[in-house]
Amino acid sequence: MYHSDLIDRAIAERRGDEGRHPDSCPALVLNADYTPLSYYPLSLWPWQTAVKAVFLERVDIISSYERQIHSPNLDMKIPSVIALKQYVKPSEYPAFTRFNLFLRDSFACQYCGSPDNLTFDHVIPRRLNGKTTWQNVATACAPCNMKKGGRTPEQAHMTLKVPPIRPTNWQLQQRGRAFPPHYLHETWRDWLYWDIELEA
Ligand SMILES: [Zn+2]
Repeated sequence: MYHSDLIDRAIAERRGDEGRHPDSCPALVLNADYTPLSYYPLSLWPWQTAVKAVFLERVDIISSYERQIHSPNLDMKIPSVIALKQYVKPSEYPAFTRFNLFLRDSFACQYCGSPDNLTFDHVIPRRLNGKTTWQNVATACAPCNMKKGGRTPEQAHMTLKVPPIRPTNWQLQQRGRAFPPHYLHETWRDWLYWDIELEA
């Protein structure tokens, strides 16, 4: 059900491609092995970067938007999926970002499980020299964060459901299957893992 929703939306988007503003035509960037260069965040380049890479012969065009760009010497469809010619070794660990931290914690408070009013809690409070790292920041709803205040979980008698860890990209991707991005262009679907999973 969810999958067909995505397809319907992608088809609707595709029909409107020709009139779409180029700034709304990012290219999905694949590695030379045709897996996305990065999932979190999804590797997307603005059309200018994608077109430049095509002319520098650093990428192959896999798919294109209907939208064309025009210049005196050239008419071309904006690339929607490109693949690097040279393989880049992906990093093992994802970036430490707010989104990725919420994703690690499945968008739920790590104390009570609530999905609402999410904030970030320093497990060891900053005033006790707690660092802002994967291992010391957990997703917490605002009420739990307030209740805990400037105390450690032990002092506050609050228990974390899961000790915070620095996730690998692989671990984050496992979580990500439940939280696909809101917008997927039709031509991206074949290259993103969650579609393969849902088809299986
Ligand atoms: Zn909570």
